Amino acid sequence: MGSSPLLLRLLSEVPVGFGMNEQFADKLNELRLAYLQRLPQQVNAVIEDYNLLGVHWDPRLVAALLLKLHTLKGSSGTFGFKNFCNAVSEFEVKLKAFHISEPQASTNDSPIAQFRPQLQAVMHAMQQAQQDWTTNQTAVVPEPAVQASVAVSAPVAAPKVTTSSKRAANNPVLFLVDNDITQGEILRANLTEFGFFVHYFSDLASLAEGLEFQQPDICLIDLHLPNCSEDEIFSRVVAFTQHQIPVIVLSASGQFQQRIKAVRAKAQAYFTKPVKMNELVAKLRHLLDFEPRKPFKVLMIDDQESILNYHQHLFSAHGIECRTTQHPELMLEVLRDFEPDLFILDYHLPHFNGAELASMLRQIPAYEATPIVFLTGETADSLKSDLVEIGSDDVIGKDLGADKFVSQVTSRIKRGKKLRMLMQQDSLTQLLNHGYIQSLARQMFSHAKRVKTPCSFVMIDLDHFKMVNDRFGHGCGDRVIVALTQMLQQRLRQSDGIGRYGGEEFLVLMPDTDLQTAHSLISKLLHQFSQLKFFERNIEFHASFSAGISCASDWNSVQVCLERADQALYQAKKAGRNRVEVASLAVADNQPS
Ligand code: GH3
Ligand code: MG
Ligand code: MG
Repeated sequence: MGSSPLLLRLLSEVPVGFGMNEQFADKLNELRLAYLQRLPQQVNAVIEDYNLLGVHWDPRLVAALLLKLHTLKGSSGTFGFKNFCNAVSEFEVKLKAFHISEPQASTNDSPIAQFRPQLQAVMHAMQQAQQDWTTNQTAVVPEPAVQASVAVSAPVAAPKVTTSSKRAANNPVLFLVDNDITQGEILRANLTEFGFFVHYFSDLASLAEGLEFQQPDICLIDLHLPNCSEDEIFSRVVAFTQHQIPVIVLSASGQFQQRIKAVRAKAQAYFTKPVKMNELVAKLRHLLDFEPRKPFKVLMIDDQESILNYHQHLFSAHGIECRTTQHPELMLEVLRDFEPDLFILDYHLPHFNGAELASMLRQIPAYEATPIVFLTGETADSLKSDLVEIGSDDVIGKDLGADKFVSQVTSRIKRGKKLRMLMQQDSLTQLLNHGYIQSLARQMFSHAKRVKTPCSFVMIDLDHFKMVNDRFGHGCGDRVIVALTQMLQQRLRQSDGIGRYGGEEFLVLMPDTDLQTAHSLISKLLHQFSQLKFFERNIEFHASFSAGISCASDWNSVQVCLERADQALYQAKKAGRNRVEVASLAVADNQPS
């Protein structure tokens, strides 16, 4: 891409999330200094081992020295002391090779002396790093880990990068392609207000360049672009949708021909200009499953406090919430009130290895699909395959640049979330499946109790559905299920939970809704649904459902609340179907709270 104007423009728009804000740079500088000040102590420990090995060659001590070097390599890489990191790495590699080929010393003389040049190089590199620090205080972040971001940001004026709007790492990225710059800018400004991060392109060529740089979560594309036909635009839409990137088509006209092309290209929506902002935002949120997003959460376990501090600040500068602990024994304790989207584990921990912790996490149902990443100085492929076998997502090197590190972590979190969403979904309707709507019911029930607000539970069951299947076929039955799903999704609020409870049974959870309100809402829905016309082989038919409602405020446990909704549904069936009943408090064993 070179330094095309577009790239410069993109870079100038890279907000703090991708560069580094001043506050973070200061904090990082402080941490680097603290690390540098503690470095002599750690190098001394290495020298001590070296001297002891000179007196007596003990393979166990060699292993201990290797571990020290390894740790030092990782941490110095993290803090960007590149030359020192290289020197340590060279020492480690050479000593390790020797240790593997000759675990026992073959002569009376200790073989350690042959590593003297490597040790001296380490000491020299440490002194050099200290000197560089004192002579060059202005080089705030001179070396690799963070320099990547400085280098990336360098071509543009610093103030713009550091003062542009703060963006959390998980803000959805939109690509907006529109040849009308004024309209595009207005749209962009508006969408930014709603928490989206928008890159603007005025034609397909610049869009292509942009795609080399980043992939959007959603693409909005205008049908009138310079120097290209509508068909070219639609083939671009097809390419996006094939890559699972939803596309919203914008157009000055809403003609049938264009709309049908958009449908065929699998565009997710079609908006005519001037675009109605709230409708567009609602659509985007729906596509992204984006209720004002919660920050991503990371739990990190490492025995080195400095590494934990560094990452805590790095993550916080990118809007990611991070909890850390040096003590794996406390992991379960932390998980009680912190549900991470990703785990970062150190592989080499003093008493437990990271792989054991990962296996333990995989045995907890809530974390069986949460990404686990190992932070390690190792690069050996064998380690990677070992870890992947026990269900870790990946290994990230400790010396990876700050930007790359955050972007790798972020993309793993997004992937993990998508995967978990798929696991929670029912395949026909994409509603929450039985297990997850039940667990949501538990959560909503306890929340309603805690904050003392009503929450209505609605059990819905299609009427005589067996007959529909028998008469019109299973495929037709499926269509009826999907139609009801769509109606529920369109008519209910975003905050309501909708799940497929069983074959032709649904559970709807309506927070902040009392029995009367729920009854009137569901009755309206029921009426509308019964008016829907279905056709199969030119035969028109109608479907209906029955519903039973209970309210969390009236019952002591979520099980009882669900049972009461089910009993009310049964009453509705008994009373002739196509109706809504509410749970009666007069049932013999009710337990008003
Ligand atoms: P009622 O009004 O008492 O609920 O009668 P019903 O026929 O709906 O109830 P019943 O429980 O006897 O039958 C439910 C039927 O729903 C049987 C089952 O084959 C069908 N069903 C369940 N899941 C699906 C599905 O995913 N697709 C289709 N097409 N049918 C389904
Ligand atoms: Mg049923
Ligand atoms: Mg039924």
